[in-house]
Amino acid sequence: MTTRPTITLVQGDITEQHADVLVNAANSSLLGGGGVDGAIHRRGGPEILAACRDLRASHYGKGLQTGQAVATTAGRLRAEHVVHTVGPVWSRTEDRSALLASCYRESLRVASELGAWTVAFPAISTGIYGWPLDDGARIAVRTVRESASPPIIEVRFVLYDEEAYARFDEALTAWT
Ligand code: ADP
Repeated sequence: MTTRPTITLVQGDITEQHADVLVNAANSSLLGGGGVDGAIHRRGGPEILAACRDLRASHYGKGLQTGQAVATTAGRLRAEHVVHTVGPVWSRTEDRSALLASCYRESLRVASELGAWTVAFPAISTGIYGWPLDDGARIAVRTVRESASPPIIEVRFVLYDEEAYARFDEALTAWT
């Protein structure tokens, strides 16, 4: 029998976290943006952007697709790797939840392949991309519960404000 990874919640800035993998809510260009993406590049330094540029040139000429994930160095961050994933933009008319779930699943798959024990996620798509926090939290918690596997022992959601923390706490209570 394998032990399920522990899911933990903290309120704060993901760039201050210490974990094997920090997940970035990137955009398909991989060349930086606002929110988590901006903070990761600012604090992680130019090495991350250089690695992203290399990835664009070598494998992702058209950018990284929504729901996919790819790893780079973590530069000056207190992590081994940053895993960049592209969340879907919220839509009122189209159900894109499978794409949001895919961000969490693919990021965990990449992290497992890298041998990560601890993985920290932001609340993907719930900022600039407009996803409602309660639904985003449910998808995040459910997908991590279903797909986190060894060697990962801890998945940490790093929520920026009290509201996000509260919604993730509710989702975690409902899914435990
Ligand atoms: P997206 O474009 O996927 O919506 P954002 O970075 O705009 O990504 O926001 C995703 C979530 O991360 C939002 O809930 C936002 O409040 C939060 N956030 C923004 N900056 C940080 C940070 N430095 N650390 C953790 N969470 C953050």
